[in-house]
Amino acid sequence: MIHDQLNRVLRDVRISVTDRCNFRCTYCMPAEVFGESFQFLSHFDILSFEEITRLTHVLVKLGVVKVRLTGGEPLVRKDIEQLTAMLAQVGGVDDLTMTTNAYLLPQKAQALKDAGLRRITVSLDSLDDAVFRRLNGNRAGVQQVLEGIAAAEQAGFSPIKINAVVQRGVNDHTIVDLARWAKERGHIMRFIEFMDVGNLNGWRMEHVVPAREIAQRIHAVLPLEPTERSYRGEVAMRFRYQDGGGEIGIIASVTQPFCGDCTRLRLSAEGKLYTCLFGTEGVDLREPLRAGASDAELEQIIVNTWTRRTDRYSEDRTALTDDAHTRRKVEMYHIGG
Ligand code: SAM
Ligand code: SF4
Ligand code: SF4
Repeated sequence: MIHDQLNRVLRDVRISVTDRCNFRCTYCMPAEVFGESFQFLSHFDILSFEEITRLTHVLVKLGVVKVRLTGGEPLVRKDIEQLTAMLAQVGGVDDLTMTTNAYLLPQKAQALKDAGLRRITVSLDSLDDAVFRRLNGNRAGVQQVLEGIAAAEQAGFSPIKINAVVQRGVNDHTIVDLARWAKERGHIMRFIEFMDVGNLNGWRMEHVVPAREIAQRIHAVLPLEPTERSYRGEVAMRFRYQDGGGEIGIIASVTQPFCGDCTRLRLSAEGKLYTCLFGTEGVDLREPLRAGASDAELEQIIVNTWTRRTDRYSEDRTALTDDAHTRRKVEMYHIGG
């Protein structure tokens, strides 16, 4: 186990397997910025499956037990099920999960399950088709995502978590419908406060619906009660329905930051380590990897990066100024949330 400057251990890693995506969510990859001519990373730039697997072995030695595959959209990375199978065989990974927009799940869900993916989280911001299309740059309708979720269920993923980013005046009027729908189907809904990740999504504090308000609005229709977090480092505030019909999580990274429990490292598609979702510069692992570094040398770079870590952006954002969010930050599609 390794500890950072604030005594936080390294427990989980999010691996971004591509910077590309088939959606253009306004809060992540707005279509005006990520147009036809946008230069994504080349195949040579991104880590190979062998490189990702090798780094995962080193990370597990340092205490990582949970691996989440993300992106961009992880399912647009060719043969993602092969990487999944390779990571599933890394001893010590207790939990192998993926966050996806579900568009390609009808083709991929069974192969992912067979490869050893344990759990899946699907992003779906609204069940209102017009609202959802506006949010994803009109790349998909609700029906396509529902088909992806159905394929995941059929493949045996259960329970499925559903992520929804809540923005005032955009989709907040549809959160109760989402909660009800998820409750009826046994999915675990996770509402996420709209975050000021990156510098491209036009974030404003007025667009954030505070977690407390999200909980109150659902509670008014579907009564809730708070429940304990299930493990240290869990980012969601958890509530269960008073009628025993399941639970929801709310990720209050803006209004109630949880940096003190943040045990997460992020690896970008081109092999940079980020110790915070709101980091500016990553630490490059690709160059040493490709220059022939030994496992011990790679381990040392990771240890140095983690043990020097002091990040607590969300707490600083709240404590400092209203415009702390304007400094330069890595974009979400690079490090995957
Ligand atoms: N493409 C996949 C997907 O959308 O599920 C995985 C990558 S995506 C960057 C991971 C998660 O980050 C998604 O659930 C997405 O909704 C969330 N996300 C992206 N931008 C966000 C923002 N500005 N604030 C809060 N959550 C955000
Ligand atoms: Fe793509 Fe996911 Fe970002 Fe939406 S949130 S643009 S689906 S990477
Ligand atoms: Fe972790 Fe950074 Fe988020 Fe704080 S702001 S919880 S340190 S990723």
